[in-house]
Amino acid sequence: MQELTHFIGGRHVAGTSGRFTEGWQPMTGEQISQVPLASKAEVRAAVENAKAAQPAWAATNPQRRARVLMKFLQLLERDNDKLAEVLAREHGKTIPDAKGDIQRGVEVVEFACGVPHLMKGEFTDGAGPNIDVYSLRQPLGVVAGITPFNFPAMIPMWKFAPAIACGNAFVLKPSERAPSVPLMLAELFLEAGLPPGILNVVNGDKEAVDALLDDPDIQAIGFVGSTAIAEYVYARGCATGKRVQCFGGAKNHLVVMPDADMDQTVDALIGAGYGSAGERCMAVSVAVPVGEKTADELMRRLIPRVESLKIGPSTDSSADYGPLVTAQALERVRGYVDLGVKEGATLAVDGRDFRMQGYEKGFYLGGCLFDHVMPDMRIYKEEIFGPVLSVVRAKTYEDALRLCNDHEYGNGVAIFTRDGDAARDFAARVQVGMIGVNVPIPVPIAYYTFGGWKRSAFGDLNQHGPDAIRFYTRTKTVTARWPSGVKDGASFVIPTME
Ligand code: NAD
Repeated sequence: MQELTHFIGGRHVAGTSGRFTEGWQPMTGEQISQVPLASKAEVRAAVENAKAAQPAWAATNPQRRARVLMKFLQLLERDNDKLAEVLAREHGKTIPDAKGDIQRGVEVVEFACGVPHLMKGEFTDGAGPNIDVYSLRQPLGVVAGITPFNFPAMIPMWKFAPAIACGNAFVLKPSERAPSVPLMLAELFLEAGLPPGILNVVNGDKEAVDALLDDPDIQAIGFVGSTAIAEYVYARGCATGKRVQCFGGAKNHLVVMPDADMDQTVDALIGAGYGSAGERCMAVSVAVPVGEKTADELMRRLIPRVESLKIGPSTDSSADYGPLVTAQALERVRGYVDLGVKEGATLAVDGRDFRMQGYEKGFYLGGCLFDHVMPDMRIYKEEIFGPVLSVVRAKTYEDALRLCNDHEYGNGVAIFTRDGDAARDFAARVQVGMIGVNVPIPVPIAYYTFGGWKRSAFGDLNQHGPDAIRFYTRTKTVTARWPSGVKDGASFVIPTME
């Protein structure tokens, strides 16, 4: 069994805390690694390495920094198969889906290669008599990222690529359930020419997170994970004076209007509801057909599609989805299906008894589909994070919109319709951060920003796109007078440009 490491100061470092957690291979249900859980001292070592390396990296001109990112992109392409294979093995998603995970990260690295342009300040020539005003964007120093299990390549890259491009040094605390790919990414970045200490990876749990939150040398923290922890990290990080952005859980609705193209809608619901076993923060977990006729037609088409989903081990590229990440995740999701039955929803497709032949110990769950889910049920209110789709029937468009707006989460939402007026009205009035019109998973492209509303996000700025550059830099504004020899005597009134 492999004992994993931390990656500090440009090299792999064995864990010294004496604490470990098991690393699993979900498709077989076997333990494949021991993951070290960092102590406060190990986190401190990573921060010290980052702090020592950061000034020289910040002083490296942005074009040279961008070239290191460009080389990193080449290495990501070279090792794409290997990364996808390790990612799928540790997470459980299929290899094509793992490649999508890597690709979505790559796109943000590509965006960050534009840092010489993105970091440009502003300049006003002659703002006053002999006075010019200009602004600078400067890196923060040492920053940290705490990431979830469900996108082991994409989310770490969303965090560290823009931060490092801007001249910061980074300490990443990835999920202890999917730690291998983040370690491989750090190795590849080093091979690309990143100076040792600029990207460090510490594996760990709450102890490592708390050490990062309390470390006075960390200027900013970006977190992605469940809402309860997001809120905790936000409060504690702000209390210690850091810049903090935290992205949390979701319950994404897909509204089906009576005029929607039903073939397209059903395909969208199947892919977005069950892909990656529903373990995506942008997965569609609630379908909202408008009108009984739409609902009946939707159910008639959905049931056979959910019953015929192809579930397989992560190595089966033809599978629709693979196992859940851990035995605990499987138990939790199964528990929600039991709960839905108790709460009185109609379980139209029951995947609880699914067993994967040849992989009996793997963490598999068949697709589950609930009809007649009511807004006061826990299976509607809470994030299930599994291959379970709930259908909540709405009488009218206004009811469907209200449902989306009343939910505590506001990450993603979609509307399927042929009516431009309805789509436009929906996009304008829905209280959700990312909206799809006939697009079920509206994850914005890398040069826009990603972020939810309500209890799906805490903090002001979004991830990637221009907000990432704002988050990982601070501005300075210089008011300068040239020639310097102009003498107009002491002035006791507030200076103006007159
Ligand atoms: P999680 O909250 O369990 O873990 C996230 C991170 O927090 C991990 O690094 C973990 O080690 C750490 N952590 C866990 N418990 C902690 C504690 N008590 N104190 C401090 N740190 C702790 O989330 P997860 O299960 O890894 O990921 C799934 C969740 O992430 C879902 O809720 C999903 O919606 C959400 N998610 C959100 C987005 C988004 O952008 N909004 C993206 C992906 C995933």
